[in-house]
Amino acid sequence: MDEIMSLVKGRDPEQREFHQAVQEVVETVKPVLDRNAAYRQQGVLERVTEPERVIMFRVPWQDDDGQVQVNRGFRVQMNSALGPYKGGLRFHPSVNLGIIKFLAFEQVFKNSLTTLAMGGGKGGSDFNPKGRSDGEVMRFCQSFMGELYRHIGPDTDVPAGDIGVGAREIGYLFGMYKKLSNEFTGVLTGKSLNWGGSLIRPEATGYGNVYFAAEMLETQGETLEGKSCLVSGSGNVAQYTTEKILELGGKVVTLSDSSGYIYDEEGLDCEKLRYVKELKNVMRGRIKEYVEKYPNAVYTAVDPTLDHNPLWSHPADCAMPCATQNEVNKVDAENLLQGGVRLVSEGANMPCTPDAVDILIDSGVLYAPGKAANAGGVAVSGLEMAQNSMRLSWPREEVDARLKQIMKCIHKTCLDAASEYGAGQNYLVGANIAGFIKVVNAMLDQGLV
Ligand code: NDP
Repeated sequence: MDEIMSLVKGRDPEQREFHQAVQEVVETVKPVLDRNAAYRQQGVLERVTEPERVIMFRVPWQDDDGQVQVNRGFRVQMNSALGPYKGGLRFHPSVNLGIIKFLAFEQVFKNSLTTLAMGGGKGGSDFNPKGRSDGEVMRFCQSFMGELYRHIGPDTDVPAGDIGVGAREIGYLFGMYKKLSNEFTGVLTGKSLNWGGSLIRPEATGYGNVYFAAEMLETQGETLEGKSCLVSGSGNVAQYTTEKILELGGKVVTLSDSSGYIYDEEGLDCEKLRYVKELKNVMRGRIKEYVEKYPNAVYTAVDPTLDHNPLWSHPADCAMPCATQNEVNKVDAENLLQGGVRLVSEGANMPCTPDAVDILIDSGVLYAPGKAANAGGVAVSGLEMAQNSMRLSWPREEVDARLKQIMKCIHKTCLDAASEYGAGQNYLVGANIAGFIKVVNAMLDQGLV
């Protein structure tokens, strides 16, 4: 295990998030390698930690003032043992190769858990869509796709959205792909409903996260009814996590963005959530505007140099981090415990730092890692691909029922794998082991390629 980590770190010393993601998987799958000499002899860890292909490219575009801007584009095609590469595109100024590699690596095991035929990949750019006009976003997307289109396809690599990439960006990206390839195919998911999108895809990550949390609670004979929840973020995943919690009778008291968070002691209701959707998705505003509309709520600006985020200090039963990686650290985890939180379900990818995860698991919190809890998004993307191939679209109830079934199945798969390897109800161990075994077995079947 140490050898693998020094290999991975030695090769790309600056890719901290990638090292973090690899370390977690390598530690938890150790018992699988101990039991299986073929895995060691076949170098599965060495192979699974090295992307099949990395594409990096220049993205030149012109802003509204006529000034030329240059961003960097990425697509990491991590592993295609189970199907075409599948995973989102992130547009955010923090994006670099290490972050895209960590996301692509996580995606491989997440996609494996969904039971659908999808390999893992991820991409994006350090472009910041915030404050840009629709015209600027369109020109950027067109330039980005001007290079990406030659590397993707419905049976090769099927990107989707992630932070900073929603329905608007997917539309512009798809339009350019169609023009360049002269084909109308299911090459992207998260498309709008009237031209190939799937019902429930926008809701899927958040809904799936809550379905998973409900499954965890059921093992304790409990439900979300009456439980108070801390949710971070206010984008796609946070919005639909909130929606489903409300539907199941829970109470959501926080939402956030990268500047700060709101605390609404009365809890959000459908009307308030409708306002948040309008604020974030249409007006493209900031979460602090919530308190102008609902003055009983309190806004707190968060100082990024602080050693913790006060959002996680409020008393609650459950926490659903839905913003970004490493947003819950050791101090936050201690504050969550102190505030009475007994369940943490990760809507975002890797939102808890490794020491935070240790604290939560050691104190018996029901903890769901993102690769299991937020797999509903990519699962419904897989269903969108299936519908596109059949030239059909399934009704809302059917997609939702399939999503719920997939989340139930992922939950059971995690528990079964954890129990087989003597890890009790440790969902982290279960998710990593189950995801890993399926991928590496497929790799071994397909020979050394
Ligand atoms: P959105 O762009 O819709 O929303 C992101 C939210 O997180 C915004 O509120 C944003 O605030 C906040 N945020 C982003 N970066 C930071 C940061 N560095 N610090 C604090 N807050 C931040 O993205 P999604 O909701 O789609 O994605 C959220 C998370 O869920 C990500 O980790 C993503 O990888 C994961 N995920 C998403 C899936 C999907 O289907 N969309 C599927 C599976 C996982 P601000 O506006 O200030 O930037």
